[in-house]
Amino acid sequence: MQISEALKKATKILYQKIESPRKESEKILLSTLKKDLTFLILNEDFKLTQEEIDIFFKKVARRASGEPLEYITNQVSFYSKIFFIDYGALIPRPETEILVDFAFQEILKLSPKNQIQILEIGIGSGALSISLAEKLENANLDFKIIGIDISQNALKIAKKNIENFNYSSKIQILQSDLFQNLHSQFFDLIISNPPYISENLKGKLQKELEFEPEIALFSGNDGAELFRRLLKEFFNRPEKILICEMGFDQKKIIQDEVCKLANTDYQLIFYQDLANLDRGFILKKKINS
Ligand code: GLN
Repeated sequence: MQISEALKKATKILYQKIESPRKESEKILLSTLKKDLTFLILNEDFKLTQEEIDIFFKKVARRASGEPLEYITNQVSFYSKIFFIDYGALIPRPETEILVDFAFQEILKLSPKNQIQILEIGIGSGALSISLAEKLENANLDFKIIGIDISQNALKIAKKNIENFNYSSKIQILQSDLFQNLHSQFFDLIISNPPYISENLKGKLQKELEFEPEIALFSGNDGAELFRRLLKEFFNRPEKILICEMGFDQKKIIQDEVCKLANTDYQLIFYQDLANLDRGFILKKKINS
């Protein structure tokens, strides 16, 4: 079977099941052949082996049954880079790129003199920390990131990406439930894209989410269980800045929780995603020092 024919057949299988059947068929084929787009354009009549055909159509069937393309191709694009991804970690979403920008801006405002210490809670695939690391490096800033995750499977994926992008000396990973295994380290900035979806929505969301680790998605009845724990610990620690992604409907919960837990003056700013939905917050303790 030639490439053109295989793509036509795959597009037909995926037609009306997903938004871009032709484009995704191409991506699945390229990942099967381990080639890039130029190869496809120049080799429409290239003849596939039986083994390649079998692997390709197995992957197409996975996509037809709702599995995210990213897990099938083991690739995800985030902040203009391609990261390795697999079942153990949440697939980074485009809206999380906004968090990278806010974190970077806050670090610039710190006008740091010493090495900047950053903590990412729930590092997942590592895409957020690595993207931030690249921006900091390009700005000639000295920094160190510690990325923690409760999931060993996620940490394996983060490690692979950190090594692939050569950040092993700048980003350190650690298995930890929130601050549990961090001891007395101090961080200039804490960032997190924690699980924030309500447990009540399990199984009621897009099919794709069913393939992602539940621990990276769901957090209690209102989706804010982890936020409550995180905010409580934040106000008991010396760190001053916390930037988090959150659900579009969680502004009030966060406001109430911060108001309840705050033991110092603070500033709480919410930011929106590209669809203009509330998507995250920047929380700063106002302490003179
Ligand atoms: N933004 C993701 C979604 O809506 C959820 C990610 C998360 O819980 N951190 O699918």
